[in-house]
Amino acid sequence: MSVAVYDAGTIGGESSWAGAGMLAPGGETDSVSEFARSLVASNALYPSFVEELTAESGAPIDFRRCGALEFTDTEEEWRSLVARAEIQRQLGIRSEIRRPGELFYPDDAVVDPRDVVRALRIACQRLGVEIREGEPVWALRAERGAILDPRPAAFAILAAGAWSSSIPVSVDGEAQQLVRSVPVRGHLVSYDLEKDAAGPVLRKGATYIVQRSNGLTIGGSTHEHVGFDRSVNPVIVADIERRLARLLPRLASTPRASAWLGFRPFTENGEAQTGRLRSSPVYLAYGHYRNGILLAPWIGKTLAEVIASSQTGSISPAAYR
Ligand SMILES: Cc1cc2nc3c(=O)[nH]c(=O)nc-3n(C[C@H](O)[C@H](O)[C@H](O)COP(=O)(O)OP(=O)(O)OC[C@H]3O[C@@H](n4cnc5c(N)ncnc54)[C@H](O)[C@@H]3O)c2cc1C
Repeated sequence: MSVAVYDAGTIGGESSWAGAGMLAPGGETDSVSEFARSLVASNALYPSFVEELTAESGAPIDFRRCGALEFTDTEEEWRSLVARAEIQRQLGIRSEIRRPGELFYPDDAVVDPRDVVRALRIACQRLGVEIREGEPVWALRAERGAILDPRPAAFAILAAGAWSSSIPVSVDGEAQQLVRSVPVRGHLVSYDLEKDAAGPVLRKGATYIVQRSNGLTIGGSTHEHVGFDRSVNPVIVADIERRLARLLPRLASTPRASAWLGFRPFTENGEAQTGRLRSSPVYLAYGHYRNGILLAPWIGKTLAEVIASSQTGSISPAAYR
């Protein structure tokens, strides 16, 4: 196929640049659902995805199956973590009690999402994909089973993250109501530590610490409904730093290297939008919220299969409720 990618900014320059890169079905599922199954399936696809992408691009990707250690403070938190682990076992998610109050997830992993998007970009260029950066799509228009705008094509995939529903879509002259995409802002901070200082991912509630192979240690985060405000808030950063130091005490005396934020693509009904828009030539891939990095191989594979067989309907019905 001949493919063009339009991006209003730079490819992978928004949420996919900002994300921590945890591949963590263990931290993200508390019920048995299709969505939970897609997280587990995508985690299983990751090693071959990374291998294929490295071979196609020649670019290194920092991917570690390092596991994740989850902590609790109270008896009640511990009981609910153990109950969650019981449900997760039905999905094939393994966990082990390390000591009372600590649960280890051996299959959780981390990847550097900036490596992934860099490699995807190179691989796409090598395969002849036309990359058009700084070119926003103002409207998507389909007529009689084919795309007319932004250019004639057999089909289009709308994957504009938190901005997706701001792009008007029309099919045969009829404006389409898309499920509204909603930005959920998250701050992250980083520290330069020596290699392997943190080991597995460390998690406690909404606080987590992830380490890259070069020692860069990233911690977060927040879930803020503040629109597309790009200003890093020092009060929020200070609060994250306090929480991180409780999880890894040496961070209290380690100077922060940087702080940044990104806009997770959520949706008004909490459901990820992955699949075909009715029986039109428009396909959707947005709203993957906290798990877009984890889900990338599964979304790509599944969408390719759906497009190849021109199936109708959503393929990722479940939600973050
Ligand atoms: C702080 C934080 C921590 C996170 N941690 C994790 C994690 O540990 N694990 C995980 O799996 N996920 C994580 N995520 C979530 C993950 O980053 C996202 O789910 C994922 O990156 C979404 O990818 P996307 O391609 O849908 O959106 P984006 O990466 O935001 O890409 C959307 C693109 O659309 C472009 N665009 C916008 N409007 C237009 C237009 N009109 N025309 C053309 N292009 C347009 C933008 O320029 C952008 O490049 C985190 C996110 C944040 C913010």
